[in-house]
Amino acid sequence: MNKGKVWLIGAGPGEAALITVKGLHYIQSADVIVHDRLVNPELIAQAPEHCDIINVGKERNHHPIPQEEINQILVKHALAGKQIVRLKGGDPYVFGRGGEEAETLAQQGIEFEIIPGISSAIGGLAYAGIPVTHRDYASSFHVVTGHLSQGNEPQNWRALAQLDGTLIILMGMSRLAEICQQLIQFGKPPATPAAVIMYASQPRQEMTIATLATLAAEVEHHQLHAPALIVIGNVVRLTEILAFTSTPITLSSTAVMMNPLTRQVT
Ligand code: SAH
Repeated sequence: MNKGKVWLIGAGPGEAALITVKGLHYIQSADVIVHDRLVNPELIAQAPEHCDIINVGKERNHHPIPQEEINQILVKHALAGKQIVRLKGGDPYVFGRGGEEAETLAQQGIEFEIIPGISSAIGGLAYAGIPVTHRDYASSFHVVTGHLSQGNEPQNWRALAQLDGTLIILMGMSRLAEICQQLIQFGKPPATPAAVIMYASQPRQEMTIATLATLAAEVEHHQLHAPALIVIGNVVRLTEILAFTSTPITLSSTAVMMNPLTRQVT
C-alpha cells in the first residue's frame, strides 16, 4: 500500500476564517484530522463525512496525551495510506511541538508538508489593537515561552530585560507574577506598559492593560487565565486608538451541511 501523507497546518489564533486558503483546502479533503484543544470547532466541522477526528489536546485537569503517542498516531495512519491533517493552534512551528512531529515523520520516511498559520503571538496582539512593531515604539519583537520543559535552562530574563523591543510571552500565565518581578529586578522600568490578552481573536477575547509593576495584580483581579498572551512594551499604549471589533465571516457552508459533526458545533 502507498504511504499516506501528513499536512501540519496552522489553524491561526482562534477566529476560524483566519486559517489559510491552503489549510482549509486540505481539511476539506482529509481522511484523518488530529487536532489540539485550542483549534476552533468550526474548522473541524469542515472535514468530509468519512474523516476520522482525533482530539489529542489536553483538557484542564486531564493528562495530556504524551507527545510520543501523538507521533505514533500520525505514523500509524500514514502507514495505512491516509491523508492526515495535523491541525495546531496558531503557527505549527511556534511552540507547538510541530518541529518534533515533523522530525518523526522525516525519520520514518513519511511525506509531509507544513502549512504555516497566523501565530497568536502576532495576530492575537493585532486583534487587541497592538501592533508588534511601530516606528515610534518598537523596532523589534521577541517571542518567548514562560514554560520550559524539564531539564531546560530557565529563560534568560536578565538579557530579555535589557531589550527595548516588544516582549511577547506565551504559556506564561502560571508564572506571571514571577516573570514581571524578574524583569523589573533586571532593570526593566516598572512603568513599562504591559497587557494580558485572553482568547485573542475569539468572541470571548478579554484584555487587561496595566504596567509591568501592576499587571499580575490586575490580572488576578479580573480573573484572566490561559490561554493568554502576555505583552510588555510601549506598543501596548496603541490599543487605546487601534482596538477594533472583528466582523467574523463564516466558512463556506458546503462541507458543513454534509457533515453530521456540525450539529455539535453550533
Ligand atoms: N502555535 C501557537 C502557540 C502554541 S503555545 C501559536 O503560534 O499561536 C500555546 C500558547 O499560545 C497559549 O498558552 C497562549 O499563551 C498562546 N495562545 C494561543 N492562542 C491564543 C489565543 N487565541 N489567545 C491568547 N493566547 C493564545
